[in-house]
Amino acid sequence: MNSFYLKNPKLYQDRSFVETTLTVRQGVITEIGGENDEALDTIDAKGCYVIPGFIDPHSHGAYGIDLNHASANELRTLGLKLACHGTTSWLCSIGCDAVTQTEKAIHEAVLAIEEPGKGAELLGIHLEGPFLSPKFHATFEERYIQASDIELLHHYQAIAKGHIRSMTMAPEIRGAKDLMAKAIALGIRISIGHSDATWQQTVDAYKAGAHAVTHLGNAMRGFHHREPGILGAALDYPFFVEIIADGVHSHPAFIRIVDRLKSPNHLMLVSDSMMATGLPDGAYHLGSRDVTVKDGQSRKEDGRLAGSTLTMDRALLNLMEMTQKSLAELIPASSTNAAQWLGLSHKGNIAPGMDADLVFMDKQGALTRVFCRGEEAKG
Ligand SMILES: [Zn+2]
Repeated sequence: MNSFYLKNPKLYQDRSFVETTLTVRQGVITEIGGENDEALDTIDAKGCYVIPGFIDPHSHGAYGIDLNHASANELRTLGLKLACHGTTSWLCSIGCDAVTQTEKAIHEAVLAIEEPGKGAELLGIHLEGPFLSPKFHATFEERYIQASDIELLHHYQAIAKGHIRSMTMAPEIRGAKDLMAKAIALGIRISIGHSDATWQQTVDAYKAGAHAVTHLGNAMRGFHHREPGILGAALDYPFFVEIIADGVHSHPAFIRIVDRLKSPNHLMLVSDSMMATGLPDGAYHLGSRDVTVKDGQSRKEDGRLAGSTLTMDRALLNLMEMTQKSLAELIPASSTNAAQWLGLSHKGNIAPGMDADLVFMDKQGALTRVFCRGEEAKG
């Protein structure tokens, strides 16, 4: 059933809720406020807030699946699982790893993109590395970090058949300027991260076309009032910024400050989730690293954070709690802004012509139904 008529929803429209109707045909929103002229199946959404499906531009896995090692089938399975948390489209993040492992991961992702399953739509690949600062490799193994290598980038995008949509890189490494220009020419969006860039280097990167910052505050040079670094530039310039709103990766006060400066148009919630997401505490891995998850926090042996166990529905509720803002005010951070950053004209909003990616939420913030391109997700 990817055609239906929705009655009585509190429908998200431009940062407020409106009681109206919604018509979906063949997985696409065709009308708002119309009658059910074609006698489509009717869904009564009384008492539900209906909001755009979440777009997660940064995930390393969940439910026992690690995206550096996942098969195409596991990626499809994950699409179903993520949809149950309201994610209706996403990028699979391949973390910095050996070249052969990266090639394998890209290959499997391409299969899953080109022969998709049901559930959350895999939009493409986010390559997190390998062109990072050795100083801020964080969870990744330093030995896999590479100097700027245009040929390698070209190779990755060739085997990805153009499906690498974004790449996290450090703009201060030697040769980064040419690498960035090449990446952009190959259709890859640049997000600054795992980086020691100064304020000036970050501003220069912005002007060269790098318009996002990966998990702001994490794995980067800190803020100093005489050298504001990436943090300062990210807040000063119109960068899209990712935040991991799990209460662990950043202090709530930091999230509030970022929200104040970046909402409504440039804040992006991401999960940065790893394979233990949705599973109990225990021993897991993140890419090539062994990690331990305790109290939902994923850490390496040295105690440093290694991915999160966050889901997008939880991230949105946490952000509401941290900022004391309303659902309607924060929805752009869970969908619209990521769509803008990724250049998706058919996702991230509820309007005619958009994919029918819809999340139903009750008054308490619990998800009751999720639709991906008009198809109800049942994980
Ligand atoms: Zn990551």
